[in-house]
Amino acid sequence: MIEEENDEDVLEKSTSWKKVLKHIAVVALLILGVLFIYGGIGPDQVSNFFIGFMLICFATTLLQVQKEPEEPYKQTLSILNCQKCDMKKVRHYEDRDYVYKIIEDCDECEGKMQITQIYSVKLKKPTIPGKKKEKKLTIKNP
Ligand SMILES: [Zn+2]
Repeated sequence: MIEEENDEDVLEKSTSWKKVLKHIAVVALLILGVLFIYGGIGPDQVSNFFIGFMLICFATTLLQVQKEPEEPYKQTLSILNCQKCDMKKVRHYEDRDYVYKIIEDCDECEGKMQITQIYSVKLKKPTIPGKKKEKKLTIKNP
């Protein structure tokens, strides 16, 4: 019998390895922190306590980072509609966007674009490019 490993198995293995490594790191940091505080490794008592405290803080934050939920990426889109020529435009949601907000001038006419709808879609991968030029999609009316 030939054992086959599919991609998901490999992924799970690598993530569990990361978890194990993280746990080891957390335990090591905690031990090191305790050693600093009680063992007196450093030059003086105050810095010993400070370094130990920092190490323990770091260890606990490392533990909390682990609880990251693996949710699908959500992307929020705003749909704009020209009040004059009725042209529609879809763009990425921006801070403080809300329905009925008038945002910008229409590309086609002198009118103003108004947000008519805001919705979010679930994606497997994020499509928002870093800080590239904003992709502007236009929907033509039927
Ligand atoms: Zn227009």
